[in-house]
Order: sequence, then C-alpha cells, then structure tokens
Amino acid sequence: MQNIFIIYTGGTIGMVQDPETGTFVPFDFELIARNLPDLARLNYNLTVHSFTPIIDSSNMKPSIWLEMAQIIKDNYEHYDGFVILHGSDTMSFSASILSFMLEGLQKPVILSGSQLPIGEIRTDARENIMTALEIASAKENGKSIIQEVCILFDNKLFRGNRSFKYNSAKFEAFRSPNYPVLAEAGIHINYNREALLDNTDKEFILHTQIDDQVAVLKLFPGINKATIKAILESDARSIIMETFGSGNTMTEPWFLDLIGEAIKNGKNILDISQCKVGSVELGRYETSQGLKALGVLNGYDMTFEAAVTKLMYLQGHFEEQEPVAHWVEIPLRGELTVND
Ligand code: ASP
Repeated sequence: MQNIFIIYTGGTIGMVQDPETGTFVPFDFELIARNLPDLARLNYNLTVHSFTPIIDSSNMKPSIWLEMAQIIKDNYEHYDGFVILHGSDTMSFSASILSFMLEGLQKPVILSGSQLPIGEIRTDARENIMTALEIASAKENGKSIIQEVCILFDNKLFRGNRSFKYNSAKFEAFRSPNYPVLAEAGIHINYNREALLDNTDKEFILHTQIDDQVAVLKLFPGINKATIKAILESDARSIIMETFGSGNTMTEPWFLDLIGEAIKNGKNILDISQCKVGSVELGRYETSQGLKALGVLNGYDMTFEAAVTKLMYLQGHFEEQEPVAHWVEIPLRGELTVND
C-alpha cells in the first residue's frame, strides 16, 4: 500500500457558489471527499492536510509557500508522494518556488486543481485528482518515477518551473512551451523518460529563506523615463526586465544609461522575453548587445514565474548580490536551458 499525502490549499476545485452574491468561494475538503467517493476505494493510505484558511490562489504568498514546503519536509520519510490541491491562477508560481525550496527531491510533488468545481457535472476535478494520485504513487524498481515538482492538468504532466497558466477558459489551462510534457495520461500514463529529473543520488534539503525584494520592468514602445526610473530605483535587489523578442530593448542612450547606473548601484537586472516560446540571446541583435556589455543577466528561456521565484529563493539564500547574479543564469532544477 502506498502512502500519499494530500495538501489542500483551496482553489476552484473545492469551491461553491455563494447563494447571495453568486461568486465562487473556497469550501472545505469534505466537499471534495463527498463528490469523490472513489477516494475511499483507492488502494492507498491517504492523509489529508487542509490549510486554514483555504484560499483562492490569487491570495497566495511566501508564508504559505513556506508552510507547504515545511509540511512536505516533515512528512517526507513516511510518504511515497505528495499531491497539492491548489487554485490554478498562481499554481505555476507555487510549483516554481517549491522546486527551488525542495532541493534534491526524490519523491513526486504533484500540484493539481481544476477549472470547474468538483460539484459541477462537467467538472475536470475528478480526472485531475485521480491522475495526480496515480502519478504521485508511481514507482519503478522501488524508486519514484517522478522526482520533482510538477503540475498535472488535463491529462498532461508538466515540470512545474517550466509551466504557466495560459488559458482561463479551457480545461487545458497550462502549457510548458520551452520544455517537453513529462507524461501524458490516456489509457496508460506514458512517461517521457528522457525529460525527467533523476535525483536518486542527491540529498534532500529544505530551503526556507525567501526574499521578496524583486520588481518587474515590462517594456513597451513609448514607456517613459520616469516609470523606468521609479522601478530601477525601487528597493528591489533584482529587477526582471521583460524585453522584446530574443531579449531586445530600445538602444537610446538615456535608457542604456539608466540600466548601467542601476547595475553600478548594485541591482541585478535579469532579461527575460515577453515571448512565451524561445530564449533570450544576448548579443544576437544590436538591440541586445549593449545590455550584455552593461552586465544585464541572461534569463534564457525561463518563464516569468520561474524567474520571480528563483530570484526570491537566491536572494533568501545569499545576502550578497554577486552570487545571486551568478546562480540565476545557471539551471538549478531544470528551469532553464543555456543556449550559448
Ligand atoms: N481563482 C481560482 C484560484 O486560483 C482559479 C482556479 O482554481 O482555477 O484559486
């Protein structure tokens, strides 16, 4: 018998409609258990931990990430896998930060949820929970097949730190455009073996320091100097600059001067693209060559979600800026592919 630990944080999956306002609000795990009698028929020992309060994931925050990671650490030895039921809105952020906090994971941590509440006739919740549980318990030669933090949604398993929520209307809510799907569930669950992380020889370590001093500068044609200055001169230790195409920006001297000055003042500036597919290639065009010379950091093909949470994790780990700058460009949990 496999031992699986379910962490219920909230999200649409367990929501009910408030009869007065008509809005969806989170409800307790009883609702899920009542609508999913098959849970009792499963050949697993299930332990459920419900968060208080259970939340819409738009209210997710670092203190809850810490709670989730700590629960996994505390129960790690006694369980074969973990399933986190979570709202889809910020699921990719949670999956990304957990991938950094849980180093050397040798057991599956599968986040899932649904687009329709479990009480609705056409709900996607049942399939998602059942498949997540099956993947969380899957073993081969005594070892877990999945040894990383993933998202299971609509029959696809994604590396958490490569995923993003791309659709709020379809059951297919997530995509992972720069990394292959890790598994697909049909009649069988087919694992994409070459794409999986293997942490067999690694030590499992929980990291609990998060520093949220991160800001975002999303560029657009016509963005004015005052806005850019305000962001660059904020308290943030690192600024994610969301650029055009393969990492390009305007080349006007006032702009490059502001960037150069911020870096001299000790800020880390990380270049990630507004494009969801492809990678930053600093120096490919004249419009990114200057950035490289100034010391702008390369985010390669990282998702926005991975970039934000990786910087929070690294800043929590290092008080100095230099090691943050060094490690952000290096893949730590399979979150980026270096292409130069
Ligand atoms: N607003 C919900 C949440 O993220 C959406 C969902 O669960 O799909 O909690």
